Amino acid sequence: MTKTIPATLIAGDGIGPEIMQSVTTVMDALGAPFLWDHQSAGVGAFDQHGTALPEATLDSIRRTGLVLKGPLTTPVGKGFRSINVTLRQAFDLYANVRPTQTIVPDGRYENVDLVVIRENIEGLYAAMEHYMAVDGDPEAVAYGAGFNTRAECNRIVRFAFEYAVKNNRKKVTLVHKANILKILSGLFLHEDRKVAAEYEGRVALEERIVDACAMELVIRPENYDVIVTTNLFGDILSDLTAGLVGGLGMAPGANIGEKMGIFEAVHGSAPDIAGQGIANPLALMMAGSMMLAHVGRQDLSQRLDGGMKQILQVEGLRTRDLGGKATTQDVTQALLRAIQ
Ligand code: ATP
Ligand code: MG
Repeated sequence: MTKTIPATLIAGDGIGPEIMQSVTTVMDALGAPFLWDHQSAGVGAFDQHGTALPEATLDSIRRTGLVLKGPLTTPVGKGFRSINVTLRQAFDLYANVRPTQTIVPDGRYENVDLVVIRENIEGLYAAMEHYMAVDGDPEAVAYGAGFNTRAECNRIVRFAFEYAVKNNRKKVTLVHKANILKILSGLFLHEDRKVAAEYEGRVALEERIVDACAMELVIRPENYDVIVTTNLFGDILSDLTAGLVGGLGMAPGANIGEKMGIFEAVHGSAPDIAGQGIANPLALMMAGSMMLAHVGRQDLSQRLDGGMKQILQVEGLRTRDLGGKATTQDVTQALLRAIQ
């Protein structure tokens, strides 16, 4: 297989290099078409180049439009914005896609197979906040606002329906709080109904208020298929759904823009276990699988997913976060055998 698709690779901080090593080893053995352009970001880049997001890295991302990214730690101190938030805004990565599937049945949630699609740029994450003084107390009242635009509501809902069509999903559940936030969440709900009408007969539409949705996700998560929601609700619900299926070590995510995709694990740099060779590489591996599907290599993506199911379900391999003793290397080696 020739490598024909340039892609930026950022190993990242903490456990990043260890799990990235595992992922690239397996992807190369699989015949993934990516021509890796190694770039740096995060605390490691800051120590080396004096900036957490070097210009060379940004140039590479602009050029390839495709990134596999390990966890990045934002340097502690004044004046540092979260690198992840910076990337999202710089490249207009408006859709955050987080699939959740039961792969390691633990007796609680056997049939979860859903995707949370979170609006990534607007909403209450705009965090327009300030204090109001009362009676000489300058911080007596905290005041915060957010915004949603019609264009963005339309774009994210359309993304969700298109995702459903492409991935053979049957239902989109729109999650809102329009009963209370009649304008902010209401606009999202109205755009949703307009867009959904175009997909009638192909993809079903369901609407849920976010609090009810949170409860149902815990009681009957198998009822959900694709969930689309605004920034803050998506942030909370996608961590909830990760918790249903084994936690952070099993949760991949993609940040998608019009011509750009950044694929990553949901978890952070896990400094407490960095350098010990015991991190679970599967969240980043699943992100790699999403990246393969994104470039049209569903065949390779499915083979990789099949390999992961094989080692977890048949061979019973478990890293420490899943209650076992397997090392990162054990996972790499088992996967290399499983995808043959
Ligand atoms: P950061 O500051 O980079 O966000 P964090 O410590 O806040 O790091 P995570 O890195 O997400 O947050 O880690 C939370 C917990 O989950 C830690 O105890 C970590 O060891 C564990 N953890 C996270 N990712 C993995 C993984 N891939 N394999 C095993 N354990 C993990
Ligand atoms: Mg964290």
